[in-house]
Amino acid sequence: MRVGVDLGGTKIEAIALDERGRETFRQRVATPRGDYDGTVSAIAALVQAAGEGTVGVGIPGAMEGELVKNANSNWLIGRPFRRDLENALRREVRIDNDANCFALSEAVDGAGKDAEVVFGVILGTGVGGGISIRKRIVKGVNAIAGEWGHNPLPYESDGPQCYCGRKGCIETFLSGPAFERDGRNLERYHERLARALGTVINILDPEVIVLGGGLSKLQSLYSEVPRIWGRYIFSSTVATRLLPPVYGDASGVRGAAWLWNEARTGP
Ligand SMILES: [Zn+2]
Repeated sequence: MRVGVDLGGTKIEAIALDERGRETFRQRVATPRGDYDGTVSAIAALVQAAGEGTVGVGIPGAMEGELVKNANSNWLIGRPFRRDLENALRREVRIDNDANCFALSEAVDGAGKDAEVVFGVILGTGVGGGISIRKRIVKGVNAIAGEWGHNPLPYESDGPQCYCGRKGCIETFLSGPAFERDGRNLERYHERLARALGTVINILDPEVIVLGGGLSKLQSLYSEVPRIWGRYIFSSTVATRLLPPVYGDASGVRGAAWLWNEARTGP
């Protein structure tokens, strides 16, 4: 069995998947915000309830060596989260970024299951991305592969200040709060997303881009953005497909379980 845990800012969710990817357990609890030891204990309790099996955890941040970085759940930053979880559980634990887990879930048996290269995008409170190649996460040497939300949005000068210290990041235009601030102007949102994804296609050239997060429910994105993005892509034809997620909000926790898809013995 594979146990997956999704650590969010407000809730922690755990599932167990059987060998065929069917869910056999699901439970969620409120996140003990600001409480590191409480967070470790809450996850350990959920995993124990889920039963025996491999353990993968998706977090809103990244592991740099043994320590957490870039987490907006900032009570995790600089803590040896993996080691502490492993000590609490007496099992080996794999940890990855939540956007990476989303991309992996959709690549393994979701919207990108027939694709070799998948770019997963989270359009929610924040904007993040993750890359899966042949159903494995591309982590990157700095553990930031796919973090395109903090690139500048092309053709948009003098953008808003971002919490990361830069100005005009893609996140400051395409997050949920940014969409609200802009008066929910869909036409402008399509155009900006097309520009932002055009740069991804020029570099990664994925077969599938799958959208997640609250804004992925906007149906017009899937028809309108591919109509526009050709202007920003260095190719006369574009075969990349822009798709909604198969597992939606459940993809983070499913992807965490699939972190053990990467076992040395293969899937
Ligand atoms: Zn930023």
